[in-house]
Amino acid sequence: MSPIFVIQKHDARRLHYDVRLEVDGVLKSWAVPRGPSPDPAQKRLAVPTDDHSMEYAEFEGVTGSGRYGSGAVIVWDLGVYRNLTEKSGVEVPIATALAQGHAKFLLQGVKLGGAWALTRTSADGDWLLVKVRDEYADPSWDPTESQPGSVLSGRTIEEVAAAG
Ligand code: MN
Repeated sequence: MSPIFVIQKHDARRLHYDVRLEVDGVLKSWAVPRGPSPDPAQKRLAVPTDDHSMEYAEFEGVTGSGRYGSGAVIVWDLGVYRNLTEKSGVEVPIATALAQGHAKFLLQGVKLGGAWALTRTSADGDWLLVKVRDEYADPSWDPTESQPGSVLSGRTIEEVAAAG
């Protein structure tokens, strides 16, 4: 079975998108303030955050006060991914790839598709999320603007926040 990915839009103290990849039974997570961009020229800062449990993948609602602040959450994109990381033609397991600071993976979501990469850029831990050039790359498309709602419920983050 393919591992899942989820991107949750989270209106905490500062709006961000939590990008999560299933790795060995947990959701490895990065907070991406500007969200993913299908434009390969747009490198998006991705700050590692705590692993989340698999059950959290379909969570929508308003979080309590937590380390990263309370606020509304929607499932902005959801699907499966395939690890594309390789070295000298041999697949590097995704957990190893992430531990080494570079992973390439193919997303099959409702909104996002094609190859993407997460790369650690500094010893103190910041990463970049970048669209790899392929037929899914599109500099003219900003899905955070054109498709803001939940892929599970259709609700916007404002509607979820208002419902409490
Ligand atoms: Mn968050």
